[in-house]
Parts: sequence; structure tokens; C-alpha cells
Amino acid sequence: MGTTAPPLSPSIVADTRGVKPPPSRDVRARRVGQRRQIYAMIAGCYLIDAVILLIYAQAGTVPASIAPVYAAIGLATVALWTLLSESGFNERFRDHYLVVPQSIVSMMFTVAFCYVAPEVSIVFLCTLYLVVGFSSLRATPRQTAICWTFLALGLAGLFLLTDKPLGMPTGGALERLATLLVFVLTIAGCMFLGIFSSSLRESLYQRGLKLKEAYRRIEELAELDELTGALNRRSIMHVLEEELTRSRQTGKPCSVMLIDLDWFKRINDEHGHPTGDDVLRTFAITMFANIRSSDRFGRYGGEEFLLVLPGAPLDPACRLAERLRQIIADLDWSAFSAGLQVTFSAGVATSRGDETTESLLSRADRALYASKAQGRNRVTRA
Ligand code: GH3
Ligand code: MG
Ligand code: MG
Repeated sequence: MGTTAPPLSPSIVADTRGVKPPPSRDVRARRVGQRRQIYAMIAGCYLIDAVILLIYAQAGTVPASIAPVYAAIGLATVALWTLLSESGFNERFRDHYLVVPQSIVSMMFTVAFCYVAPEVSIVFLCTLYLVVGFSSLRATPRQTAICWTFLALGLAGLFLLTDKPLGMPTGGALERLATLLVFVLTIAGCMFLGIFSSSLRESLYQRGLKLKEAYRRIEELAELDELTGALNRRSIMHVLEEELTRSRQTGKPCSVMLIDLDWFKRINDEHGHPTGDDVLRTFAITMFANIRSSDRFGRYGGEEFLLVLPGAPLDPACRLAERLRQIIADLDWSAFSAGLQVTFSAGVATSRGDETTESLLSRADRALYASKAQGRNRVTRA
């Protein structure tokens, strides 16, 4: 029976051409949300720094205008990034966080304030730790190298090309308080980044577990026949190939039992197709309940099944086949539909030397045909 392949989704088509598919609406919304969170944190950091600068201004270390100018420029850059993010601009780039441009702008802005207010450069130098920490959460090694180079050049300019005294004010009580806050809050920020990155790792780990489980389920579904839960034809044929190879290597026998339900068309016609499906399911469950875990049972097609019995010589295989035939014939099938009776015919064959799969199956098929010819509901050995 021919099957039609389902149409490929646009993302799969795009992937096979090596083009990254555009992110779905859900993904874009999630990314915008994540970026909003980060921008809110950055804005918070600028405001905290501004409060510290106000304390320094109060202590007379820097002019009063430094804090509002610093806060205004910092918040203006956050507003610009937010605007770009909300407009969808970021989605044009592989790195939708725009790690490199954002980090460089923040670093340059922070280093620039060391020039403007060198008396309190400790505030800005410590802020650099947080900028680097934030960017390293998302940056690739290459992006990290670019950011570090810009920062190193900026700092080299500051330390080597100017003779500004870079201050860590500790003159009066207010200055000591402000400087203490700089250190304590920077350390808190570093700790927060650590916690944030470990929660990211944990959520990635959990996602990995879910993916693994989904993959296992997909593999299982691809192997099983949907209606009966038996192996599908492809899998049972694969199993048979493997078992025959093993049998050739070890010299142990391998038997097969080819089964065909009797008068199944009539069962469908007289009791209805859904009852036919119930019969197939119940037949498979009953077979599973009466075979060893090492035996492999699959749907060969329609109402035909294949039981592979690794290690079983012909006589025990025939005895098992006879026992299974009896069990199926003795089941009370009338529970499904009044007057329903189900039997099967089977052919049993055991591998000979280095016999091929085709030859073994064809002998089993001839034996099955003989069972049918002799009146059905019987087992014939090849
Ligand atoms: P025989 O004893 O000679 O094997 O006769 P039969 O009627 O069993 O054989 P035949 O090949 O004429 O009919 C097989 C029927 O099995 C025909 C098909 O509709 C039915 N069948 C195949 N797959 C399914 C299925 O998944 N569900 C149901 N309900 N019927 C199925
Ligand atoms: Mg058939
Ligand atoms: Mg049949």
C-alpha cells in the first residue's frame, strides 16, 4: 500500500536549505520578555549608581550634576535598547540580545565617566564587573573576546594616556559609606549573576531531560504499530534480521511463527470494522501475555503477525504455537459481539545454517498456506 509523505513544515524546509527559519510568534514574544527583564535590571543598576553618586555629591566629592547626568544617559541607552527590542529590530540578528553593541556602549559610557568624574572612578570601575558579568551570560567566546578588547583599550587609554588620579574616596563618613555601598552592591550584583546563571543552567538541564524523554517516546512510536502495540513491520523485520545474524554467529536456532487470523474479512463484515479492530488488539495483548520477554512479536500487515523466537528449536516453537492457537480459540470472544469466534492459522519454521530472511519467511508462509488449505485453525511446521 502506498503512503504519501506529509508536507514538510516551512521550518523543516528552511532548515534543510541551511537557512535559519524566522522565529515563531511565541518565541519572539518570549525573547522580548527576557530582554525586558534584562533592561529593567540594567536600569535598576544605573539608578543605584546614581544614588551612590548623590551621596558622594552630598559629601562634596563630586558636583551635584554628575548623578542626574549619569542616570539620564544610562536610562536613555536602556530606553534606546528597549525601543529597538520592542520594534522587532533585534530579531533580525542571530544574537538577538545584541550582546556586543550593548556591552561596548555600556563599557564606553562607564569608562567615559571615569574621565568625567575621576574622583569617584571606583563607582564606574566596579560597574564594569557587572557589565562584563551580564554580557558573559549570553556571549559566545568570540563576542567575549571582542568586548574584552574594547574594554582593555578603553582602560589602557584611561590609565596610560591620562594622569587623572582615579579615586576611591574614604575621606569622611559619607564618602566611606558611599564607597562601602559600591563594594557591597557590586559583590551582591556578582552573586546575583552567579545565581541567575545557575538557574539558567538548571532550566537548560530540565529542558534537556524533557527533550530526551520526548525523543525516546518518538522512537518508541516509530517502532510500534499504533493499533495493536506490537512492533510494526519495519521493526519486526529488523529484529528478524538481527536474530538471524546472531543465530548464524552463535549456531543457536531461531524460529519464526507466521500467523494469519482466520476469516477476518468475514469478522469485519458480520461484526463491524470496530469489532475487527478490538479483535486485533485483544489478540495482540493475549499473545504478549503468553510469550517470553525475549520473544519478539510484530504486525506483519493487516491481520498477519510474525512471532520471532530467538534460540527456539523447531519442536518447542511448534508446541508454543499450538498452545497459543488453543488459547486464542478458547477465548470468550462473544463479549465483543454475539457469536464472534476468532482463530488463527500459523506456519512455523526454524532457521537452517546461514539461511536468508526471505527463505525462512517463505518456508513459514508455505506452512501457513498449508494450515489454511487444511481447514484453518491449525499450526503447520515447515
Ligand atoms: P483467511 O482465513 O483466508 O486469511 O481469510 P481472511 O478473510 O482473514 O483474509 P483476507 O485477506 O480476505 O481478509 C483480510 C481482512 O483483514 C481484510 C481487511 O479488511 C482486514 N483488515 C486488515 N487490516 C485491518 C485492520 O486494521 N482492522 C480491521 N478491522 N480489519 C483489517
Ligand atoms: Mg491475510
Ligand atoms: Mg486472514
